[in-house]
Order: sequence, then C-alpha cells, then structure tokens
Amino acid sequence: MTATGAPAASIAQLEANEVVTVVGTVVNPAGLTHAKTVPIHRVNAFAEPGLGASPVWHGFAIDQTGIAFTKDIGVVGDERIRIDLSALRVLNDGIAWAPGNFYDQNGEPVAACSRGTLARVEARLAEAGLAAMIGHEIEFVLVGPDGAALPADLWAQYGLAGVLEHEEFIRDVTAAAASAGVSIEQFHPEYGKNQFELSLRPRTPVAAADHLVLTRVILGRVARRHGMRVSLSPVPFAGAVGSGAHQHFSLTRAEVPLFSGGTGPHGMTAEGAAAIGGLLAGLPQAQAILSGSILSGLRMQPGHWSGAYVCWGAENREAAVRFLTGGAANPHGANVEVKIVDPSANPYYASAAILGLALDGIRRDAPLPPETTVDPDTLSEADRAAAGTVRLPDAQPDILAALDGSSLMREILGDPAVAVSLAVRRLEQEQHHALTPAELAARFRLAWSL
Ligand code: GLU
Ligand code: MG
Repeated sequence: MTATGAPAASIAQLEANEVVTVVGTVVNPAGLTHAKTVPIHRVNAFAEPGLGASPVWHGFAIDQTGIAFTKDIGVVGDERIRIDLSALRVLNDGIAWAPGNFYDQNGEPVAACSRGTLARVEARLAEAGLAAMIGHEIEFVLVGPDGAALPADLWAQYGLAGVLEHEEFIRDVTAAAASAGVSIEQFHPEYGKNQFELSLRPRTPVAAADHLVLTRVILGRVARRHGMRVSLSPVPFAGAVGSGAHQHFSLTRAEVPLFSGGTGPHGMTAEGAAAIGGLLAGLPQAQAILSGSILSGLRMQPGHWSGAYVCWGAENREAAVRFLTGGAANPHGANVEVKIVDPSANPYYASAAILGLALDGIRRDAPLPPETTVDPDTLSEADRAAAGTVRLPDAQPDILAALDGSSLMREILGDPAVAVSLAVRRLEQEQHHALTPAELAARFRLAWSL
C-alpha cells in the first residue's frame, strides 16, 4: 500500500514480466498524448506522489512548439502526474504502460485533467442511478515515417488487398493487443487509401478511453517496427476521406438497458429517448470538444459519413447520431453512435461531453426529435427545419464560439477544461488560419501520431 492506501505495484511481479520501463501517459485538451517514463523501481513513486509537470502541459499546441497560456496556465506552478496502477498493462520488449491523472502538489485533483473530468461525469451518472458503457472506433491512415503517402496501387475500399498488403502489421497489432489485454472486436481496411479501422469492446467510460490510448500506443509501436507511422489526423490528405473516432454508448439503470425493451422508437425507453434528445440538443455546443481542431471542419461535410447534420436515425450513417438497434445481430445490445467525434479530440473529454449531455437530457426529459430515415442532405431546407435538423458549422471560430457561450458544457466539463480547450484551438486558428486545406492537412498529418 502507498501512503494514501492505493495498492502499490509489485515490482517483483513486473520484473518477472521483464518490465524495465514504465510509460505513463496523459492526453491534453488539444488531443496530444504526452508521456513520462520511470525505471521499474520508481513505478510506485510515479503513482504517488507522482512526477512533476508544468501546468503548460494542458496548453501544448499541435504545432510541436506552441503553448496556449490562460489565466490558470502560465510559467509558474507545478502539478503532479500520477499513474493509475490499477490500469497498468505490461506490453512487450520490457515496457509497461499506465494512464495518468493530474493532481496539484497538495494531492487535490486538477480540474482540467481530462481523465479526472470523465471520472467525475461517470460518478455523476452513478449518483443518478445510471451506468454507461463506451465502445471506441479508431480510424487511421498508414503513412511513411515523414508522413508521405504509401503506395496504394492495390487498394480497394474495404478491399482484401489492404489486409494482404499489411498483413504483418495487422497480425502484430492483433497479437500485441491480445497480450496487453485489449479486446479488438474487428480490424479492417476502411474507405480511404491505406486507411484502417479497428473497434474496441465496450467498457466503462474511463476504462474505455484508457484502452483507446493504449491501442494507439500499440499501433504506434507496431507501425514503427514496420517502417510506417499512423496518422491520427481527422483529415490526413485534403480532398480524401477523413478519419473519425466514433464513440458508441449505452446506458443502463439498475442493469436495465435504456435503449431497448421500451415503448419508444426502436424500443427505446422514455429515459433513452430523453438521453438522445439531450445529446442532440447539446451537440453544437459540444462540437469544439468532439471535433474542434483546425482540421476538423474539413471532415465535417455532408457525404463524408461524419454526421454533419444534427439529427438521429437508426443505422443512418449521415446522421450525427446513429442508433443501433439491439438484437441477435447486435450482441452488445442497442447503443448510440456519436459520429462527429474525430481523432484530434481528447477522448476523455469527448466521452465526458457526450455522457454529460445524455444525463442532462434525462434530467430534463428532453424531447426526442423525429427520426431522420434518409440522408439528411437530400432533404429540402424546409423539411430539415421542420425536423429541427441543423448543419454543424465547419468554420473553427464558429465551432469555438458555440462552446464558449455554453453554460451547459461549462457545467459538464468545468470552466478550466473549457477555457484551455478554447485556448489551444484559438491558437491553431490564430497561427494557421491562412493555410489552404492541402497545407493544413500536410502540416498536421502527424500531429496526433504516437
Ligand atoms: N471515415 C468516416 C469519418 O470520417 C466514417 C466512415 C464510417 O462510417 O465508418 O467519420
Ligand atoms: Mg469506419
């Protein structure tokens, strides 16, 4: 046990697993994954009291050098990153990994810490008698070490050729994930050239986001071994299909699902319908958290399966919110897919925003808008307006203004998280607004890569 009663890691056990180095990661508001490492004998010190980090870590920008300063984030002060030993996983080649949280030097949680923010939302759900599960999808594009496009002469959308061209990579990712305890549900070529997708088994929110980060670590390690890199940019190549980071969620009350077994549309319960109503109502305010980078608007276009219209529909891939009905073909049960999330988002904040909006909808019994059963882009303006369907903005300043003005998002995430999220994205806008889409895509193709 450590001083505060947290379980200590067994160094002997880790050594028996040949662990030499422990890597602790945190994800910042710009979606960047940062790390510190310790030799194995220091693993318990990394858990408590933790390792020092300047508050500017929250404000690191996607351009490799920039810092977004805010009233809370300056050159003075120091925080502690503490890894969560209960989430530690042994990887191969002497490396173990664990996710970290930020604390101040008195041991109080730092409000902007994204993992802590999601844990707070998870606790709020529990207080309301609710439990959530989240299933993450990871879309990415394989590129060269310098971000150059790889040959794709044999590529077909979802084609077997993509599997065969990269079979060693796929095999090694699958093996590394299995040995680290990450459950991959499926792994396949996607639509774009050298674009792949894998989906992860649903887990409780913080654990699900941890597994997403761990999977990115594994992807980065394996890709390197094969002389490649993984682009986690929402738009790796301008004009080509983008990459999403869709999140599926389901909710239960006393283990009874809210999205099936009810009398509402597609078997939703009244609370399930209200959760989706709340999510849709708040989505424009949450967009900056879900897909708010300077590249995100290039993906948020009709026809890109990214959910550019705020509406919902069963199995509707052009709706921002796709409903998946439970049943024999869907063993995890009915769930809701939020399509607008992209890989530039901080996944902990993104889950916190989604679940916070769903909880808000349940609390105020938010109305569920009528279902959109066709591609919303094919509807007339008038029909969309009648259904309350708006198009999400694609200009970053508009996306950020909606978050800035949202008291609801401030309540869900807390003011410090909103402030620093706005700060990092505004810095992107200030410094790079003049770049063309092609320049932007090239400049930030590897910005989120591990
Ligand atoms: N690549 C699309 C996106 O940017 C998603 C494709 C799909 O529906 O899986 O979100
Ligand atoms: Mg996909």
